[in-house]
Amino acid sequence: ADRKRRVAAVIEEVESRLATPTALLRSISDAMVSEMERGLCGDIHATLKMLITYVDNLPTGDEHGLFYALDLGGTNFRVLRVQLGGREKRVVKQQYEEVSIPPHLMVGTSMELFDFIAAALAKFVDTEGDDFHLPEGRQRELGFTFSFPVNQTSISSGTLIKWTKGFSINGTVGEDVVSELSNAMERQGLDMKVTALVNDTVGTLAGGRYMDNDVVAAVILGTGTNAAYVEYANAIPKWNGLLPRSGNMVINTEWGSFKSDKLPLSEFDKAMDFESLNPGEQIYEKMISGMYLGEIVRRILLKLAHDASLFGDVVPTKLEQPFVLRTPDMSAMHHDSSHDLKILGAKLKDVVGVPNTSLEVRYITRHICDIVAERGARLAAAGIYGILKKLGRDKVPSDGSKMPRTVIALDGGLYEHYKKFGSCLEATLTDLLGEDASSSVVAKLANDGSGIGAALLAASHSQYA
Ligand code: ADP
Ligand code: MG
Repeated sequence: ADRKRRVAAVIEEVESRLATPTALLRSISDAMVSEMERGLCGDIHATLKMLITYVDNLPTGDEHGLFYALDLGGTNFRVLRVQLGGREKRVVKQQYEEVSIPPHLMVGTSMELFDFIAAALAKFVDTEGDDFHLPEGRQRELGFTFSFPVNQTSISSGTLIKWTKGFSINGTVGEDVVSELSNAMERQGLDMKVTALVNDTVGTLAGGRYMDNDVVAAVILGTGTNAAYVEYANAIPKWNGLLPRSGNMVINTEWGSFKSDKLPLSEFDKAMDFESLNPGEQIYEKMISGMYLGEIVRRILLKLAHDASLFGDVVPTKLEQPFVLRTPDMSAMHHDSSHDLKILGAKLKDVVGVPNTSLEVRYITRHICDIVAERGARLAAAGIYGILKKLGRDKVPSDGSKMPRTVIALDGGLYEHYKKFGSCLEATLTDLLGEDASSSVVAKLANDGSGIGAALLAASHSQYA
Protein backbone atom coordinates (compact mmCIF):
# COMPACT_ATOMS: atom_id res chain seq x y z
CA ALA A 1 0.00 0.00 0.00
CA ASP A 2 2.88 2.30 0.78
CA ARG A 3 4.48 1.47 -2.55
CA LYS A 4 1.21 2.26 -4.34
CA ARG A 5 1.05 5.61 -2.62
CA ARG A 6 4.61 6.45 -3.62
CA VAL A 7 3.96 5.42 -7.22
CA ALA A 8 0.85 7.57 -7.33
CA ALA A 9 2.74 10.52 -5.90
CA VAL A 10 5.49 10.34 -8.53
CA ILE A 11 2.97 9.96 -11.36
CA GLU A 12 0.97 12.90 -10.13
CA GLU A 13 4.12 15.00 -10.04
CA VAL A 14 5.08 13.91 -13.57
CA GLU A 15 1.60 14.64 -14.89
CA SER A 16 1.65 18.14 -13.52
CA ARG A 17 5.21 18.96 -14.67
CA LEU A 18 4.60 17.73 -18.18
CA ALA A 19 1.11 19.15 -18.57
CA THR A 20 0.31 21.24 -21.63
CA PRO A 21 -3.11 22.82 -21.14
CA THR A 22 -4.43 24.58 -24.24
CA ALA A 23 -3.95 28.03 -22.71
CA LEU A 24 -0.26 27.25 -22.18
CA LEU A 25 0.04 26.04 -25.78
CA ARG A 26 -1.41 29.34 -26.98
CA SER A 27 1.18 31.29 -25.07
CA ILE A 28 3.90 29.00 -26.44
CA SER A 29 2.65 29.72 -29.98
CA ASP A 30 2.82 33.44 -29.26
CA ALA A 31 6.35 33.10 -27.91
CA MET A 32 7.23 31.16 -31.06
CA VAL A 33 5.87 33.96 -33.26
CA SER A 34 7.87 36.59 -31.44
CA GLU A 35 11.05 34.49 -31.65
CA MET A 36 10.37 34.08 -35.39
CA GLU A 37 10.09 37.83 -35.74
CA ARG A 38 13.29 38.39 -33.79
CA GLY A 39 15.08 35.84 -35.97
CA LEU A 40 13.86 37.55 -39.13
CA CYS A 41 15.32 40.83 -37.81
CA GLY A 42 18.68 39.17 -37.36
CA ASP A 43 18.64 39.57 -33.59
CA ILE A 44 21.56 37.41 -32.50
CA HIS A 45 19.79 36.49 -29.28
CA ALA A 46 16.73 35.08 -31.05
CA THR A 47 16.40 31.38 -30.32
CA LEU A 48 14.99 30.77 -33.81
CA LYS A 49 17.66 31.40 -36.42
CA MET A 50 15.14 31.83 -39.27
CA LEU A 51 17.73 30.99 -41.90
CA ILE A 52 17.40 32.42 -45.39
CA THR A 53 17.47 29.50 -47.83
CA TYR A 54 17.88 31.30 -51.18
CA VAL A 55 14.89 29.30 -52.37
CA ASP A 56 12.55 31.99 -53.71
CA ASN A 57 10.64 29.72 -56.06
CA LEU A 58 9.19 26.34 -55.29
CA PRO A 59 8.77 23.63 -57.96
CA THR A 60 6.19 24.36 -60.63
CA GLY A 61 5.81 20.92 -62.18
CA ASP A 62 7.73 21.82 -65.34
CA GLU A 63 11.05 20.39 -64.14
CA HIS A 64 12.55 17.76 -66.39
CA GLY A 65 15.68 15.68 -66.79
CA LEU A 66 17.76 13.31 -64.68
CA PHE A 67 18.68 14.49 -61.19
CA TYR A 68 20.25 13.00 -58.11
CA ALA A 69 19.65 13.78 -54.46
CA LEU A 70 21.46 12.90 -51.30
CA ASP A 71 19.85 13.17 -47.90
CA LEU A 72 22.04 13.35 -44.82
CA GLY A 73 20.51 14.18 -41.50
CA GLY A 74 20.11 11.35 -39.09
CA THR A 75 21.02 7.78 -38.61
CA ASN A 76 20.56 6.91 -42.25
CA PHE A 77 21.38 8.69 -45.39
CA ARG A 78 19.70 8.14 -48.67
CA VAL A 79 20.67 8.52 -52.26
CA LEU A 80 18.07 8.97 -54.93
CA ARG A 81 17.79 9.50 -58.67
CA VAL A 82 14.75 10.68 -60.48
CA GLN A 83 13.83 11.13 -64.11
CA LEU A 84 11.50 14.12 -64.32
CA GLY A 85 9.21 14.35 -67.32
CA GLY A 86 7.85 17.89 -67.10
CA ARG A 87 4.22 18.92 -66.66
CA GLU A 88 2.70 15.98 -68.50
CA LYS A 89 4.78 13.06 -67.37
CA ARG A 90 5.88 14.27 -63.93
CA VAL A 91 8.03 11.68 -62.13
CA VAL A 92 8.83 9.16 -64.83
CA LYS A 93 11.05 6.95 -62.74
CA GLN A 94 12.69 7.09 -59.37
CA GLN A 95 15.07 4.86 -57.46
CA TYR A 96 16.66 5.18 -54.07
CA GLU A 97 18.92 3.44 -51.66
CA GLU A 98 19.30 3.85 -47.93
CA VAL A 99 22.60 3.41 -46.16
CA SER A 100 23.02 3.50 -42.41
CA ILE A 101 25.83 5.58 -41.00
CA PRO A 102 28.25 3.61 -38.84
CA PRO A 103 28.06 5.24 -35.38
CA HIS A 104 31.80 5.89 -35.21
CA LEU A 105 31.51 8.14 -38.27
CA MET A 106 29.00 10.37 -36.45
CA VAL A 107 31.70 11.40 -34.02
CA GLY A 108 34.76 11.00 -36.27
CA THR A 109 36.33 13.40 -38.72
CA SER A 110 34.67 15.44 -41.43
CA MET A 111 36.74 13.80 -44.14
CA GLU A 112 35.86 10.26 -43.08
CA LEU A 113 32.16 11.06 -43.04
CA PHE A 114 32.12 12.76 -46.44
CA ASP A 115 34.33 10.09 -48.00
CA PHE A 116 31.92 7.42 -46.80
CA ILE A 117 28.97 9.30 -48.26
CA ALA A 118 30.66 10.03 -51.58
CA ALA A 119 31.70 6.39 -51.91
CA ALA A 120 28.13 5.21 -51.39
CA LEU A 121 26.90 7.78 -53.91
CA ALA A 122 29.49 6.72 -56.49
CA LYS A 123 28.41 3.12 -56.08
CA PHE A 124 24.79 4.12 -56.57
CA VAL A 125 25.59 6.12 -59.72
CA ASP A 126 27.25 3.00 -61.15
CA THR A 127 23.92 1.19 -61.05
CA GLU A 128 22.12 3.80 -63.18
CA GLY A 129 20.07 1.91 -65.77
CA ASP A 130 18.98 2.66 -69.33
CA ASP A 131 15.67 4.15 -68.23
CA PHE A 132 17.52 7.21 -66.97
CA HIS A 133 18.77 9.69 -69.55
CA LEU A 134 21.50 12.25 -69.27
CA PRO A 135 21.84 14.37 -72.40
CA GLU A 136 25.18 14.02 -74.21
CA GLY A 137 28.00 16.08 -72.75
CA ARG A 138 26.22 17.04 -69.55
CA GLN A 139 27.38 16.71 -66.00
CA ARG A 140 25.14 14.90 -63.50
CA GLU A 141 23.58 17.25 -60.97
CA LEU A 142 22.65 16.74 -57.36
CA GLY A 143 20.45 18.29 -54.73
CA PHE A 144 22.07 17.90 -51.32
CA THR A 145 19.69 17.67 -48.40
CA PHE A 146 21.70 18.43 -45.30
CA SER A 147 19.55 18.54 -42.18
CA PHE A 148 21.69 20.55 -39.84
CA PRO A 149 21.71 24.31 -39.34
CA VAL A 150 23.62 25.97 -42.16
CA ASN A 151 24.40 29.60 -42.89
CA GLN A 152 23.48 29.57 -46.51
CA THR A 153 25.51 31.86 -48.78
CA SER A 154 23.75 30.96 -52.03
CA ILE A 155 21.41 28.22 -53.24
CA SER A 156 24.40 25.91 -53.58
CA SER A 157 26.73 26.85 -50.75
CA GLY A 158 26.64 27.28 -47.01
CA THR A 159 28.64 26.80 -43.85
CA LEU A 160 27.71 24.53 -40.98
CA ILE A 161 26.62 26.40 -37.84
CA LYS A 162 26.62 23.41 -35.49
CA TRP A 163 26.03 19.70 -35.42
CA THR A 164 22.86 18.39 -33.70
CA LYS A 165 21.07 15.04 -33.18
CA GLY A 166 24.05 13.11 -31.86
CA PHE A 167 26.53 14.19 -34.53
CA SER A 168 29.69 15.70 -33.20
CA ILE A 169 32.46 16.00 -35.74
CA ASN A 170 35.51 18.15 -35.47
CA GLY A 171 36.44 20.46 -38.27
CA THR A 172 33.13 20.88 -40.09
CA VAL A 173 31.63 23.84 -38.24
CA GLY A 174 32.31 26.96 -40.29
CA GLU A 175 33.19 24.97 -43.41
CA ASP A 176 31.21 24.98 -46.65
CA VAL A 177 29.46 21.62 -46.66
CA VAL A 178 29.09 21.65 -50.44
CA SER A 179 32.87 22.00 -50.86
CA GLU A 180 33.36 19.18 -48.37
CA LEU A 181 31.03 16.95 -50.38
CA SER A 182 32.39 18.05 -53.76
CA ASN A 183 35.97 17.37 -52.67
CA ALA A 184 35.00 13.94 -51.43
CA MET A 185 33.21 13.19 -54.72
CA GLU A 186 36.32 14.24 -56.59
CA ARG A 187 38.43 11.91 -54.46
CA GLN A 188 36.02 9.15 -55.53
CA GLY A 189 36.38 10.13 -59.17
CA LEU A 190 32.70 11.01 -59.31
CA ASP A 191 31.85 13.80 -61.76
CA MET A 192 28.79 15.45 -60.30
CA LYS A 193 27.80 19.03 -59.47
CA VAL A 194 25.85 20.10 -56.41
CA THR A 195 23.37 22.69 -57.70
CA ALA A 196 21.18 22.96 -54.61
CA LEU A 197 21.95 22.71 -50.91
CA VAL A 198 18.76 22.40 -48.90
CA ASN A 199 17.62 21.58 -45.43
CA ASP A 200 15.29 18.56 -45.19
CA THR A 201 12.43 20.87 -44.23
CA VAL A 202 13.01 22.86 -47.41
CA GLY A 203 13.22 19.67 -49.46
CA THR A 204 9.95 18.49 -47.92
CA LEU A 205 8.35 21.86 -48.63
CA ALA A 206 9.49 21.66 -52.28
CA GLY A 207 8.39 18.04 -52.65
CA GLY A 208 5.11 18.83 -50.92
CA ARG A 209 4.42 21.81 -53.19
CA TYR A 210 5.10 19.66 -56.27
CA MET A 211 2.34 17.30 -55.11
CA ASP A 212 -0.06 19.93 -53.78
CA ASN A 213 -0.07 23.58 -54.74
CA ASP A 214 -1.47 24.73 -51.37
CA VAL A 215 1.51 23.56 -49.30
CA VAL A 216 2.92 26.57 -47.41
CA ALA A 217 5.01 24.95 -44.69
CA ALA A 218 6.81 21.72 -43.93
CA VAL A 219 7.55 20.15 -40.59
CA ILE A 220 9.96 17.33 -39.85
CA LEU A 221 9.35 15.05 -36.90
CA GLY A 222 12.06 12.43 -37.01
CA THR A 223 15.28 12.05 -35.08
CA GLY A 224 15.06 15.80 -34.59
CA THR A 225 12.42 18.39 -35.40
CA ASN A 226 12.39 21.47 -37.60
CA ALA A 227 10.11 23.52 -39.85
CA ALA A 228 10.32 25.65 -42.98
CA TYR A 229 7.71 27.90 -44.56
CA VAL A 230 7.15 30.41 -47.32
CA GLU A 231 7.62 33.95 -45.98
CA TYR A 232 6.92 37.25 -47.71
CA ALA A 233 10.34 38.57 -48.75
CA ASN A 234 9.41 42.06 -47.55
CA ALA A 235 8.73 40.69 -44.07
CA ILE A 236 12.39 39.73 -43.60
CA PRO A 237 14.15 42.84 -42.26
CA LYS A 238 17.55 41.12 -42.21
CA TRP A 239 17.40 40.37 -45.94
CA ASN A 240 19.34 43.08 -47.71
CA GLY A 241 19.59 41.55 -51.16
CA LEU A 242 17.27 42.34 -54.02
CA LEU A 243 13.66 41.44 -53.45
CA PRO A 244 13.02 38.24 -55.37
CA ARG A 245 10.60 38.51 -58.26
CA SER A 246 8.29 35.98 -56.69
CA GLY A 247 8.03 38.18 -53.60
CA ASN A 248 8.68 35.08 -51.50
CA MET A 249 11.54 33.49 -49.64
CA VAL A 250 11.58 30.10 -47.98
CA ILE A 251 12.75 30.35 -44.38
CA ASN A 252 14.29 27.47 -42.48
CA THR A 253 13.16 28.27 -38.95
CA GLU A 254 15.48 25.85 -37.10
CA TRP A 255 12.72 25.74 -34.54
CA GLY A 256 14.39 22.84 -32.71
CA SER A 257 16.41 25.44 -30.85
CA PHE A 258 13.31 27.29 -29.64
CA LYS A 259 13.50 28.12 -25.99
CA SER A 260 10.99 29.88 -23.80
CA ASP A 261 10.20 29.96 -20.11
CA LYS A 262 6.69 28.89 -21.16
CA LEU A 263 7.96 25.43 -22.13
CA PRO A 264 7.06 22.80 -19.51
CA LEU A 265 10.65 21.81 -18.74
CA SER A 266 10.84 19.11 -16.08
CA GLU A 267 13.69 17.75 -13.97
CA PHE A 268 13.90 14.87 -16.48
CA ASP A 269 14.40 17.25 -19.39
CA LYS A 270 16.97 19.26 -17.49
CA ALA A 271 19.02 16.22 -16.54
CA MET A 272 18.86 14.79 -20.06
CA ASP A 273 19.91 18.14 -21.52
CA PHE A 274 22.75 18.50 -19.04
CA GLU A 275 24.19 15.12 -20.00
CA SER A 276 23.70 15.62 -23.75
CA LEU A 277 26.31 16.44 -26.40
CA ASN A 278 24.82 19.93 -26.70
CA PRO A 279 23.68 21.14 -23.27
CA GLY A 280 21.44 24.19 -23.28
CA GLU A 281 20.73 23.80 -26.98
CA GLN A 282 17.80 22.38 -28.99
CA ILE A 283 15.51 22.51 -25.97
CA TYR A 284 12.23 22.35 -27.94
CA GLU A 285 13.64 19.50 -30.04
CA LYS A 286 14.59 17.59 -26.91
CA MET A 287 10.97 17.70 -25.70
CA ILE A 288 9.49 16.60 -29.02
CA SER A 289 11.62 14.48 -31.28
CA GLY A 290 12.33 10.81 -31.77
CA MET A 291 15.87 10.88 -30.51
CA TYR A 292 14.68 11.92 -27.05
CA LEU A 293 11.14 10.75 -26.24
CA GLY A 294 12.13 7.22 -25.26
CA GLU A 295 14.96 8.59 -23.15
CA ILE A 296 12.56 10.84 -21.23
CA VAL A 297 10.33 7.84 -20.56
CA ARG A 298 13.36 5.90 -19.32
CA ARG A 299 14.24 8.68 -16.92
CA ILE A 300 10.73 8.76 -15.51
CA LEU A 301 10.64 4.97 -15.13
CA LEU A 302 14.00 5.16 -13.38
CA LYS A 303 12.61 7.66 -10.94
CA LEU A 304 9.64 5.39 -10.33
CA ALA A 305 12.04 2.50 -9.75
CA HIS A 306 14.14 4.52 -7.32
CA ASP A 307 11.49 6.38 -5.39
CA ALA A 308 8.64 3.89 -5.53
CA SER A 309 10.21 0.49 -6.24
CA LEU A 310 8.17 0.17 -9.43
CA PHE A 311 10.15 -2.86 -10.58
CA GLY A 312 10.66 -4.37 -7.13
CA ASP A 313 13.24 -3.81 -4.45
CA VAL A 314 16.18 -3.44 -6.78
CA VAL A 315 16.45 -0.88 -9.50
CA PRO A 316 17.03 -2.75 -12.80
CA THR A 317 20.61 -1.99 -13.88
CA LYS A 318 19.70 -1.81 -17.54
CA LEU A 319 17.28 0.99 -16.80
CA GLU A 320 20.21 3.10 -15.61
CA GLN A 321 21.73 3.12 -19.06
CA PRO A 322 21.06 6.29 -21.07
CA PHE A 323 19.13 5.78 -24.33
CA VAL A 324 18.43 2.04 -23.83
CA LEU A 325 14.77 2.76 -24.35
CA ARG A 326 14.38 3.95 -27.92
CA THR A 327 11.37 5.82 -29.21
CA PRO A 328 10.25 2.96 -31.52
CA ASP A 329 10.17 0.70 -28.41
CA MET A 330 8.21 3.34 -26.54
CA SER A 331 5.80 3.54 -29.46
CA ALA A 332 5.35 -0.25 -29.53
CA MET A 333 4.59 -0.23 -25.79
CA HIS A 334 2.23 2.72 -26.10
CA HIS A 335 0.23 1.06 -28.89
CA ASP A 336 -0.16 -2.28 -27.15
CA SER A 337 -3.88 -2.82 -26.92
CA SER A 338 -3.85 -6.48 -25.93
CA HIS A 339 -5.81 -7.23 -22.74
CA ASP A 340 -2.70 -8.29 -20.79
CA LEU A 341 -0.32 -5.80 -22.48
CA LYS A 342 1.94 -8.63 -23.53
CA ILE A 343 3.88 -6.67 -26.15
CA LEU A 344 4.65 -4.10 -23.50
CA GLY A 345 5.62 -6.84 -21.06
CA ALA A 346 7.98 -8.35 -23.63
CA LYS A 347 9.57 -4.95 -24.29
CA LEU A 348 10.14 -4.38 -20.59
CA LYS A 349 11.82 -7.75 -20.45
CA ASP A 350 13.95 -7.09 -23.53
CA VAL A 351 14.87 -3.50 -23.00
CA VAL A 352 14.83 -3.03 -19.26
CA GLY A 353 15.60 -6.61 -18.30
CA VAL A 354 12.61 -7.10 -16.01
CA PRO A 355 10.72 -10.34 -16.68
CA ASN A 356 7.19 -11.03 -15.46
CA THR A 357 5.94 -7.52 -14.78
CA SER A 358 2.50 -7.23 -13.24
CA LEU A 359 -0.37 -5.87 -15.27
CA GLU A 360 -0.38 -2.83 -13.02
CA VAL A 361 3.26 -2.04 -13.77
CA ARG A 362 2.51 -2.39 -17.48
CA TYR A 363 -0.41 0.02 -17.28
CA ILE A 364 1.74 2.52 -15.45
CA THR A 365 4.47 2.22 -18.07
CA ARG A 366 1.98 2.77 -20.86
CA HIS A 367 0.61 5.79 -19.07
CA ILE A 368 4.12 7.30 -18.86
CA CYS A 369 4.57 6.75 -22.61
CA ASP A 370 1.25 8.51 -23.12
CA ILE A 371 2.21 11.52 -21.01
CA VAL A 372 5.55 12.00 -22.79
CA ALA A 373 4.22 11.43 -26.33
CA GLU A 374 1.25 13.68 -25.71
CA ARG A 375 3.41 16.53 -24.46
CA GLY A 376 5.68 16.22 -27.52
CA ALA A 377 2.81 16.11 -29.98
CA ARG A 378 0.99 19.03 -28.35
CA LEU A 379 4.14 21.16 -28.31
CA ALA A 380 4.72 20.40 -31.99
CA ALA A 381 1.12 21.40 -32.75
CA ALA A 382 1.69 24.69 -30.90
CA GLY A 383 4.67 25.34 -33.17
CA ILE A 384 2.64 24.72 -36.31
CA TYR A 385 -0.10 26.97 -34.99
CA GLY A 386 2.59 29.62 -34.45
CA ILE A 387 3.65 29.43 -38.10
CA LEU A 388 0.02 29.69 -39.21
CA LYS A 389 -0.37 32.75 -37.00
CA LYS A 390 2.78 34.28 -38.47
CA LEU A 391 1.29 33.80 -41.94
CA GLY A 392 -2.14 35.10 -40.92
CA ARG A 393 -3.68 31.75 -41.73
CA ASP A 394 -4.83 30.88 -38.23
CA LYS A 395 -8.32 32.24 -38.56
CA VAL A 396 -11.06 32.99 -41.02
CA PRO A 397 -10.54 36.51 -42.46
CA SER A 398 -12.63 39.14 -40.68
CA ASP A 399 -13.68 40.72 -43.98
CA GLY A 400 -15.85 37.70 -44.67
CA SER A 401 -13.64 36.35 -47.47
CA LYS A 402 -12.91 32.67 -47.61
CA MET A 403 -9.85 31.33 -45.87
CA PRO A 404 -7.44 29.88 -48.42
CA ARG A 405 -6.81 26.16 -48.24
CA THR A 406 -3.57 25.72 -46.31
CA VAL A 407 -1.53 22.55 -46.33
CA ILE A 408 1.31 21.62 -44.00
CA ALA A 409 3.57 18.87 -45.31
CA LEU A 410 4.79 16.62 -42.52
CA ASP A 411 7.52 14.03 -42.68
CA GLY A 412 9.86 12.06 -40.48
CA GLY A 413 9.87 8.65 -38.88
CA LEU A 414 8.27 9.86 -35.67
CA TYR A 415 5.23 11.34 -37.39
CA GLU A 416 5.00 8.53 -39.90
CA HIS A 417 5.23 5.58 -37.54
CA TYR A 418 4.10 6.79 -34.11
CA LYS A 419 0.35 6.83 -34.77
CA LYS A 420 -0.73 8.14 -31.38
CA PHE A 421 1.77 10.96 -31.69
CA GLY A 422 0.43 11.95 -35.11
CA SER A 423 -3.22 11.79 -34.14
CA CYS A 424 -2.64 13.80 -30.97
CA LEU A 425 -0.79 16.45 -32.99
CA GLU A 426 -3.65 16.72 -35.46
CA ALA A 427 -6.33 16.85 -32.76
CA THR A 428 -4.40 19.56 -30.92
CA LEU A 429 -3.98 21.63 -34.06
CA THR A 430 -7.72 21.39 -34.71
CA ASP A 431 -8.39 22.43 -31.14
CA LEU A 432 -6.05 25.45 -31.40
CA LEU A 433 -7.49 26.59 -34.73
CA GLY A 434 -11.10 26.17 -33.77
CA GLU A 435 -13.79 24.66 -35.94
CA ASP A 436 -14.00 27.25 -38.72
CA ALA A 437 -10.33 27.75 -39.47
CA SER A 438 -9.41 24.11 -39.00
CA SER A 439 -11.64 23.11 -41.90
CA SER A 440 -9.25 24.96 -44.25
CA VAL A 441 -6.03 23.59 -42.78
CA VAL A 442 -4.71 20.18 -43.74
CA ALA A 443 -1.73 18.38 -42.24
CA LYS A 444 -0.49 15.91 -44.76
CA LEU A 445 2.18 13.23 -44.75
CA ALA A 446 4.69 14.07 -47.48
CA ASN A 447 6.40 10.75 -47.40
CA ASP A 448 10.03 11.12 -48.45
CA GLY A 449 9.20 14.44 -49.99
CA SER A 450 12.58 15.80 -49.06
CA GLY A 451 14.58 13.63 -51.43
CA ILE A 452 12.44 14.38 -54.43
CA GLY A 453 12.19 18.00 -53.29
CA ALA A 454 15.98 18.35 -53.32
CA ALA A 455 16.11 16.79 -56.80
CA LEU A 456 13.41 19.23 -57.97
CA LEU A 457 15.38 22.19 -56.59
CA ALA A 458 18.54 20.83 -58.21
CA ALA A 459 16.57 20.81 -61.46
CA SER A 460 15.29 24.37 -61.15
CA HIS A 461 18.80 25.58 -60.28
CA SER A 462 20.55 23.49 -62.94
CA GLN A 463 23.60 24.99 -64.62
CA TYR A 464 21.85 24.20 -67.90
CA ALA A 465 18.48 25.74 -67.02
P1 ADP B 1 15.92 11.29 -39.70
O1 ADP B 1 15.11 12.20 -38.86
O2 ADP B 1 17.06 10.70 -38.94
O3 ADP B 1 16.28 11.85 -41.02
P2 ADP B 1 13.58 9.65 -40.03
O4 ADP B 1 12.73 10.75 -40.48
O5 ADP B 1 13.47 8.33 -40.71
O6 ADP B 1 15.09 9.98 -40.04
O7 ADP B 1 13.24 9.43 -38.50
C1 ADP B 1 13.86 8.44 -37.76
C2 ADP B 1 13.41 8.60 -36.35
O8 ADP B 1 12.01 8.35 -36.26
C3 ADP B 1 14.07 7.62 -35.42
O9 ADP B 1 15.21 8.20 -34.82
C4 ADP B 1 13.01 7.35 -34.38
O10 ADP B 1 13.17 8.22 -33.30
C5 ADP B 1 11.71 7.69 -35.05
N1 ADP B 1 10.97 6.47 -35.36
C6 ADP B 1 11.22 5.58 -36.33
N2 ADP B 1 10.35 4.56 -36.28
C7 ADP B 1 9.53 4.80 -35.25
C8 ADP B 1 8.43 4.12 -34.65
N3 ADP B 1 7.97 2.96 -35.11
N4 ADP B 1 7.84 4.70 -33.60
C9 ADP B 1 8.28 5.85 -33.12
N5 ADP B 1 9.31 6.54 -33.61
C10 ADP B 1 9.93 6.03 -34.66
MG1 MG C 1 15.37 12.88 -42.46
